[in-house]
Amino acid sequence: MVSSLEEKCIFCEIVKREEKASIVYEDDDILAFLDISPLAKGHTLIIPKKHYVDITDIPPEMLSKISLVSKKLGENLINKLGYDGVNLMHSTGASAGQSVFHFHVHLIPRISGESIGFQEWWFSRAFHPSRKDLDKTANDLKL
Ligand code: 5GP
Ligand code: ZN
Repeated sequence: MVSSLEEKCIFCEIVKREEKASIVYEDDDILAFLDISPLAKGHTLIIPKKHYVDITDIPPEMLSKISLVSKKLGENLINKLGYDGVNLMHSTGASAGQSVFHFHVHLIPRISGESIGFQEWWFSRAFHPSRKDLDKTANDLKL
């Protein structure tokens, strides 16, 4: 598991151009490139150039910058590749499915009628708590 700068980080290598990537966007702080095993053509990863591990590590200002780029690139996927939808996905932690421990957001372009599998999985896992349980959890979580 790559979890810190001391270990080899494939995304840091992409930033340093030590590893190849098909880059679609770059600015001073952010790089976006195509996922090497895409769920759909155009599946893009957006990363901060600086190594942050996950949502608990990344500074809010950097996350805001990534959000702005997500909007631009999401619209671009729709406008240029003819998609009509996009999933924005992020995993923090191995339990959530994170496999590269350099913060990234997935932009997965979607088109009506084409399944990529994870939605079926998502809905099959849904459970139906009572209103009382929902209210208790909301109360526990309130900020
Ligand atoms: P995670 O599972 O951490 O949310 O997503 C990591 C993503 O990085 C995966 O979708 C995987 O295909 C992608 N990935 C892993 N190694 C490389 C690589 O060397 N280059 C590129 N472009 N994508 C990679
Ligand atoms: Zn890194």
